[in-house]
Amino acid sequence: MRTDCLILGGGIIGCAVALELRARKVEVTVVERGPIAGEASSAAAGILAPQAEAGGPGPLLELARASRALYPAWAESLRAATGIDIAYRTDGALVVALHEHELDLLRARQAWQTAAGLQVERLSAAEVRALEPALGETHGALRFAGDHQVDNRRLARAVEQAAAQAGVRFVSAQARRVLHDGARVTGADLDGTPQVAGQVVLACGSWSALLDGAGLPAQAVVPIRGQMIELETRPPPLRHVVFGDDGYLVPRADGRVLCGSTEEHAGFRKEVTPAGLERLARRVARLCPALGEARVARSWSGLRPGTADGLPLLGPTALVGLHLATGHFRNGILLAPITARLIASIVTGERTAAGLGIDLAPFSVARLG
Ligand SMILES: Cc1cc2nc3c(=O)[nH]c(=O)nc-3n(C[C@H](O)[C@H](O)[C@H](O)COP(=O)(O)OP(=O)(O)OC[C@H]3O[C@@H](n4cnc5c(N)ncnc54)[C@H](O)[C@@H]3O)c2cc1C
Repeated sequence: MRTDCLILGGGIIGCAVALELRARKVEVTVVERGPIAGEASSAAAGILAPQAEAGGPGPLLELARASRALYPAWAESLRAATGIDIAYRTDGALVVALHEHELDLLRARQAWQTAAGLQVERLSAAEVRALEPALGETHGALRFAGDHQVDNRRLARAVEQAAAQAGVRFVSAQARRVLHDGARVTGADLDGTPQVAGQVVLACGSWSALLDGAGLPAQAVVPIRGQMIELETRPPPLRHVVFGDDGYLVPRADGRVLCGSTEEHAGFRKEVTPAGLERLARRVARLCPALGEARVARSWSGLRPGTADGLPLLGPTALVGLHLATGHFRNGILLAPITARLIASIVTGERTAAGLGIDLAPFSVARLG
């Protein structure tokens, strides 16, 4: 069998790249060993918050802002293609200070973001109370009106469906190794059967560095576990995504509230632990005491594909025709549309990344040495 482009990994990144390539008339096959988007892409909270999440200015913030800007049109085109509403919500995000000493951090963040020309608003404790009365006591907050959210599970279903409708082939198999002739990629071994392909995109999330033949150092991508709980409430107690106490609350329109998340080096173990649940429960109590009696509907954990410097691995490798689309860590849902555009442009050779206004150098595998 032969395909123009073989995508290894059917998470949100692999599926989004596949859809974008299909729009450019490329024959695409996605290889996924489990359910489509059954790993990190389902475990996520769906927050699209380049500004609330940013530790400082830099290439990740620029990439994330460019991706955030693509979301309104992406949500609309997915709805038009599939009828699926991905619940794109624009209520904004708050970063609250639960302790007085955190106000300095908020001031510093407001200062550099304002200097960078980004929209950010400082709120007093009283203003936070007026805006989100269900929150516990705070010392104030920053409000990022441009930071949004989607329902990532609906998003994944919509992207998968749109890709299938557009003619993307989905194959249920384990990719065992990337095949090459020493200089260029020739395909991949799928459960012992060679699949010939002109180009291969590696989008295996946390498992990317395990794939033989791709040439990635073992620690290039490592799993960072995140545990999450989902609470059931009526009516929705919050409008904003709320960051604080080293985590967040994400209110869905139907009354569910997600509380996340831990950041743990636990290998590939996707367990929910008493210690993790306890941390999340304490966070709920601190941020929004009103949720203390809400029903815990579900809990789960997922593995974020982490890199040493927190930046994704995007673009070409030393093997001609092998492209990386992995290592998206905490921001893979947010970064899916820009990743899809960048990788599709590179695979088709129609535009360079620079043509999209993005410098790919900070995301290159070359930085790993
Ligand atoms: C708890 C938690 C909360 C998060 N919250 C957010 C958020 O609010 N906003 C945000 O932007 N991001 C968030 N993230 C991060 C985001 O989920 C990830 O960055 C993103 O899902 C990565 O997508 P992916 O497609 O690369 O990986 P995955 O979704 O993990 O997909 C990789 C796929 O590759 C498959 N695979 C692996 N190896 C092979 C192989 N050899 N052969 C075949 N298939 C293979 C796997 O089965 C898997 O389905 C969160 C993550 C977690 C865990």
